Amino acid sequence: MPANELSGLQFDHRFVRELPGDAISDNYRRQVRNACYSRVAPTPVTCPRIIGWSWELAATLGLDQQARNSDETAQILSGNLVPDFLQPFAMRYGGHQFGNWAGQLGDGRAIILGETVTTGGNRWMLQLKGAGPTPYSRTADGLAVLRSSVREFLCSEAMFHLGVPTTRALSLVTTGESVLRDMFYDGNPRHEPGAVVCRVAPSFTRFGNFQIHAALKETELLQKFVDYTIATDFPELGEPAPESRKEWFHQVCQRTAEMITHWMRVGFVHGVMNTDNMSILGLTIDYGPYGWLEDYDTNWTPNTTDANGRRYCFGRQPSIALWNLLQLANALMPVFSDPAPLQEGLDLYTSHFNKQCLTMMKQKIGLTSAASEQSEQLVDALPGVLQAAEADMTLFYRQLAEFPTVSLPAAADPALQEIPAGIRSALYRPEQLTDDATGKLLTWLRDYRSEIQKTGIPDAERRTAMNQVNPLYVLRNYLAQLAIDRAEQGDSSLIEELLAVLRNPYDEQPGKAHFAEKRPDWARHKAGCSMLSCSS
Ligand code: AMP
Ligand code: MG
Repeated sequence: MPANELSGLQFDHRFVRELPGDAISDNYRRQVRNACYSRVAPTPVTCPRIIGWSWELAATLGLDQQARNSDETAQILSGNLVPDFLQPFAMRYGGHQFGNWAGQLGDGRAIILGETVTTGGNRWMLQLKGAGPTPYSRTADGLAVLRSSVREFLCSEAMFHLGVPTTRALSLVTTGESVLRDMFYDGNPRHEPGAVVCRVAPSFTRFGNFQIHAALKETELLQKFVDYTIATDFPELGEPAPESRKEWFHQVCQRTAEMITHWMRVGFVHGVMNTDNMSILGLTIDYGPYGWLEDYDTNWTPNTTDANGRRYCFGRQPSIALWNLLQLANALMPVFSDPAPLQEGLDLYTSHFNKQCLTMMKQKIGLTSAASEQSEQLVDALPGVLQAAEADMTLFYRQLAEFPTVSLPAAADPALQEIPAGIRSALYRPEQLTDDATGKLLTWLRDYRSEIQKTGIPDAERRTAMNQVNPLYVLRNYLAQLAIDRAEQGDSSLIEELLAVLRNPYDEQPGKAHFAEKRPDWARHKAGCSMLSCSS
């Protein structure tokens, strides 16, 4: 029977039971030693109100339809109420930020309420983000504003429905508190509405959890944490032993490769791929200044803090993930007497990613069966074509699925002298296309058409297959911003509407065409739409 309140779920607090915690229980900022976490209570708020709710995640956890409306739910998911069945704590971790070792970071504004186990035996951690300071808050306040919480809530669920491995979001609660933020870092802070998101994942362990123990030479604890992770997050690998530890690292590398392949498939740019934002389970984690590619540009990053270096731009994500895995491997050295399995894992990442990425790109253009050199050339040439033509990443592939090849009537421009109208509609400035860009696109389309004709895949079949990997609806940056603007006025209906559309991102939905349009001109350089700061 599904439960109508969180108190009806089963809880089993394995992390705090099996791993050593901080000896100090007071909540003040400090450097913690020889511990994996600190117990900490969330800070109460004045007026919690649930404005976003993921029904399917609630059902997955074993909650029924009533749970959203219960006052107990809002109290718990805002941090106001911590019943005895919960054991809140903040994780200790470190990390490399923008390539430099940053020392202790930790859950500065995230508090894990505990671990629930479903009737099917699946383990889920519930975590409040923005629920007040912890020992890891450093100089910050432990809070989150509505705009970043709307973005995290919507994107977590959107990614899940796109089939991208991700942490989930159960709820979005406004707190009734105001939070001071200097959004542009220009000395003009303003009060913004506060909010708390309840994030959900099998575990929130990051590369940085291992790194902190390695950096502080807590070798015994490092070993214990590795074995705990294998037993809890990778139980299929069997008892912790040299063989399963090796297999574990290889798994982490492969899962990371899969996650990055998905990001490249849907046009997602994480924005802050620091090692503390890399999940050991290969889940997309920490939705901060992320963004979605609109006009195709491999150098694009949504993060204003990274505007100069572009370390975390779209095109660099695969190599940054490898760099992050290398930092993890370095941290794991004391546990692996022989470095060879670690090197093997890194090599596996590269080979796995390259293979998967090629398969994925072929799927995106509907050329799965063909193993020909020609189809690989088409894949290789496409990014340059898209970039030169300023094509919308999402709409281009949907229009390509409509591009007639086999069934082309003989009379209809067999030489393909002009860009077909559908494809043209996916370009940002078609009237300003240079001859060079037009030429590149036409050549590519001609080559593509002849390759499809060679394979003999019927157009209808190709369209169906392509539309299963190329989404029509993604959480475009400006759409999230529209939902935020409304929510800040007290109207959360657009959050709900977007969530509903993004639930089926591959299916055309009647009356929802306006969510599948190119970014409008007004959003091209607007804050929150094209660029985001880390202030959240
Ligand atoms: P992020 O860049 O969001 O992944 O955060 C990096 C580190 O800063 C993590 O340790 C966060 O917990 C911490 N942090 C970010 N924002 C806040 C905040 N408002 N209050 C406390 N800690 C924060
Ligand atoms: Mg983080």
